[in-house]
Amino acid sequence: MRAAIVREISEIKVEGLPRRYPHLPWREEPLELVDMPIPEPASGQVLIEVLACGVCYTDVDIVEGRVRCKLPVIPGHQIVGRVVTSGSGKLQRFSEGDLVGVAWIGKTCGRCRFCVTGMENLCDEFQATGCDINGGYTEYTVAYSDFVYRIPKNVDPVHAAPLLCAGAVGYRALKLTDLRNGMRLGLFGFGASAHIILQVVRKIYEDVEVYVFSRSEEHRELARALGADWTGHPNDDPPRRLDRAIDFTPVGEVTARALELLDRGGILVMNVIRKQTPINLDYEKHLWSERVVRSVANVTRRDVEELLSVAGRYNIETHVQTYSLEEANKALRDLKAARIRGSAVLRIS
Ligand SMILES: [Zn+2]
Ligand SMILES: [Zn+2]
Repeated sequence: MRAAIVREISEIKVEGLPRRYPHLPWREEPLELVDMPIPEPASGQVLIEVLACGVCYTDVDIVEGRVRCKLPVIPGHQIVGRVVTSGSGKLQRFSEGDLVGVAWIGKTCGRCRFCVTGMENLCDEFQATGCDINGGYTEYTVAYSDFVYRIPKNVDPVHAAPLLCAGAVGYRALKLTDLRNGMRLGLFGFGASAHIILQVVRKIYEDVEVYVFSRSEEHRELARALGADWTGHPNDDPPRRLDRAIDFTPVGEVTARALELLDRGGILVMNVIRKQTPINLDYEKHLWSERVVRSVANVTRRDVEELLSVAGRYNIETHVQTYSLEEANKALRDLKAARIRGSAVLRIS
C-alpha cells in the first residue's frame, strides 16, 4: 500500500514564510511517499480501507516536532474508511463494509483515575492516532475497534473527515464553555474547527448571538455565510460584550483580547495546543470579576460520538479543500500558510 510517512522532524518550507528553526532540515516535501505492506489487525483491532483523511494543524506540529510522536509514523487522525476485516479474540462491533471513522484518541488504559471519571482524554497512557499509532495518510490502517465510530449515512467520507478532529475537539471546547440560550459567544479564528462549531451552535441553540473575529476577510465572509451575527478583526469592538468565547488561534495577544471582551463571569476556552506568542495578562483588565479561562486537551470518545450524531441529524456541512495522497505535502504547506478555506482533506480511494 502507498503511505506518506514522517521519518524525521523537519521544518516545512513554505514560500513567503521565514525559516524559524535553523537547526532543523528545511523541506518543501517533509513527508516521504513509500510503499509498505498492508498491516494485520491484532486482537481487538479492525483493518480499514481509508477513503479520506483530514489534514489537521496538529500534523504540521508533528512534522515540525512541536508534538512529539514515535517516528517513523504515518500521520493523520481524521480517518474515514470501510471495514475490511477484524482481528480475532473479541466480540466485534463492526462487519465488513461498514463506513467508520477513527479520531485522535486511538487507545486509553481504561483504568487510570482519568479514564474512570469520564476524562479519558487526559489518560496516563493516551495513545494518539497518527502519532503513537499509525494514522490515515495511507490506503489501509488498523485501529482498536472500541475507538472506531460509525459515520452517519447522509455524510460522505470526504466531508465526514473534518468532523473527527476539527469538529470533535471544537465540540468539546463548546461543551466546556457551558453556553446557554440568551448568551453571546465569540469565536476567535475561523478555520476548520470554528466553521463547524458555528453551524452546531446555530442548530442546537435557539437564541445565541455569535460574533466571529478573524484577520482574514475570506474567513469572515465564510462566517457570515454560515450565520455569524457579526464579524470583525480581533481588534474591532463587537456590538456587545461576550459571555462565552473560544480562542482557536496560536496568537497570545488574541487570548488577552478575548478576555478583555468577556463580560463579568464570562468563560474563555482555549482550543489550541500551543501559543506561538506570549499571553500577557493584567489581572484587572483580563481576569477580575470572575472571568474564567481554561484549555482543551484531546477528545473523549463521547465527544466524537455526540458530534457525529449532531452532524448526521442536522446536516452540518464541512467546507473542504481536497488533495490526493501524493499531494499530502502540498496540503501541509497550504495549511501552514493559512491558505485553506474550511478543512484540508486527502481523498484516498
Ligand atoms: Zn487534529
Ligand atoms: Zn487511562
